[in-house]
Amino acid sequence: MEKQELLKVEGLKQYFPIKGGFLGRTVNHVKAVDDISFTIYEGETVSIVGESGCGKSTTGRAILRLEEPTEGKVEFRGVDLAGLSKRDMRKYRKDLQIIFQDPYASINPRQTVASVLTEAMDIQKVLPANERRGRAEELLETVGLLPYQADRFPHEFSGGQRQRIGIARALSVNPQLIICDEAVSALDVSIQAQVLNLLEELQDEFKLTYLFISHDLGVVRHISDRIIVMYLGKIVEIADKYSLFENPKHPYTKALLSAIPIPDPDKKKERIVLRGDVPSPIDPPSGCRFHTRCPYATEKCQVDVPELRTASSMKEGHEAACHYIEEIESGEKQPNY
Ligand code: SF4
Repeated sequence: MEKQELLKVEGLKQYFPIKGGFLGRTVNHVKAVDDISFTIYEGETVSIVGESGCGKSTTGRAILRLEEPTEGKVEFRGVDLAGLSKRDMRKYRKDLQIIFQDPYASINPRQTVASVLTEAMDIQKVLPANERRGRAEELLETVGLLPYQADRFPHEFSGGQRQRIGIARALSVNPQLIICDEAVSALDVSIQAQVLNLLEELQDEFKLTYLFISHDLGVVRHISDRIIVMYLGKIVEIADKYSLFENPKHPYTKALLSAIPIPDPDKKKERIVLRGDVPSPIDPPSGCRFHTRCPYATEKCQVDVPELRTASSMKEGHEAACHYIEEIESGEKQPNY
């Protein structure tokens, strides 16, 4: 069966102005997301990974227009959300939901859980008013809580339970796409696994599509179908989960993966330690943004921006933005540590 496009991001840029001087003029920009494109198909889980400051969360927020994108298109079922008026955008709000790292921060502590859930339904006109309370209780059961807990306040729940409330709230308006922004990062490992399993079960039950944003490659490996790796506002590699973990091509992806511990004590993996820190997104490096830290960088890398491409050794749909994929793979190019 042909895959159906659900979300198509094209040339998305998100720049934040930096004000300065006596008159408070814009003196520069933080280029948090700089010209990225990707597609998400119905029913799949796509993850965006990268270090803090790479632009992954900003991408999620720009898709939902929690920040107004500076440039680019965000097409949801063929409709460009970025071009809609605020009023027209409201019609799509229920289709695209977000679960945050700390749902506690996004839930009014003075509201009961029932009121949090029915409020979302009320705003989006989901169900007649007299049926919303019952639906809220059903949703609590769906996410593994108990109906009588609807009358409790958020502070009466543990971190994992609060995340379940965040999920119930997202589900309450029958969304199609859920953006999970570091949704399990704050939880203990065992609770993380429970919430990830719950998200997978709900995906099957409600035919959901997820955009998972995380710095944690272990979590991403568990949940994703495809993975996007970002570095300093750009996509450097995109691939299905197996290709990315078994056959990474971009030197940055290789460095990220080398940092994951292997549970087998007999297997040894060489850890690639990158030099320096991530440069500032205010004045990112020219050419390939990774050149200041890349062990294979040449003068060409300082000037020419590498485009995402599929080399002959890569599967269809696997792309990396590096000038020297073939040379690094053949060993012709050696790292200059
Ligand atoms: Fe490294 Fe150059 Fe490839 Fe960028 S283009 S990843 S700097 S080798």
